[in-house]
Amino acid sequence: MSTQPIHPQFSSSNVDPAELAKFSDLAHRWWDKESEFRPLHQINPLRLNWIQSLVPLQDRKVLDIGCGGGILSDAMARQGAQVLGVDLAVKSLKVAQLHALEAGTQGVQYREISAEDLAAEQAAKFDVVTCMEMLEHVPDPSAIVKACAKLVKPGGWVFFSTLNRNPKSFLFAVIGAEYVLNLLPRGTHEYARMIKPSELADWVRAQGLDIMQMKGLSYNPFTRNYSMGSDTDVNYLMATQMPLEK
Ligand code: SAH
Repeated sequence: MSTQPIHPQFSSSNVDPAELAKFSDLAHRWWDKESEFRPLHQINPLRLNWIQSLVPLQDRKVLDIGCGGGILSDAMARQGAQVLGVDLAVKSLKVAQLHALEAGTQGVQYREISAEDLAAEQAAKFDVVTCMEMLEHVPDPSAIVKACAKLVKPGGWVFFSTLNRNPKSFLFAVIGAEYVLNLLPRGTHEYARMIKPSELADWVRAQGLDIMQMKGLSYNPFTRNYSMGSDTDVNYLMATQMPLEK
């Protein structure tokens, strides 16, 4: 097997260039709330409030992995956090940066670097790490979980969100969202890459993180609204914490 990275630009091989290209192609629309990114804009206040209910963000050092156009990074900075957003799609990072300038958001920076490379550089430097709607787009999500665990300080929090893998999530997240309701471009999510909570839980625990809470997001096609609750069948979030003593 070749030891060459898939994309020579990245020292990490844990990246799927086709996945990055999907997001790069849409990068100019990140801040259009009626675009393909409407679902992310809609769930943003819900996930932000949930994070803040567990760890107030004021003055925290926060890392947002796979930040895209900065929808969550920007919102966390507006809560008084010092945020670093990282992604490997340069176009998205430029859009994120431009948005921060235009909106006058203080305390947010963006950088093109892989989670694994940043973990080698800034181990145990962050109070909070977020990795939202990203794990299902990478070849080896467990390696991202490992990097998150390395990046967070003892006592700090790591938040994940992704798509569950079961017949219901296939129907709702792929067929419903991409083919019936046209909420997302076709091909956004690949069924085989979706992640069961039990799989994520295993990866998280293997890195010494404690699972503190799980939530689900549900979409109501009639009201076109999302709500957060206990149904983790389709889209779910997991809050984890690194114990003070490992
Ligand atoms: N986390 C953001 C964006 C989610 S979209 C939010 O929830 O609002 C998924 C993002 O993951 C895209 O921006 C894509 O470029 C990024 N991504 C995909 N593979 C990646 C990788 N290997 N490393 C870093 N980011 C990656």
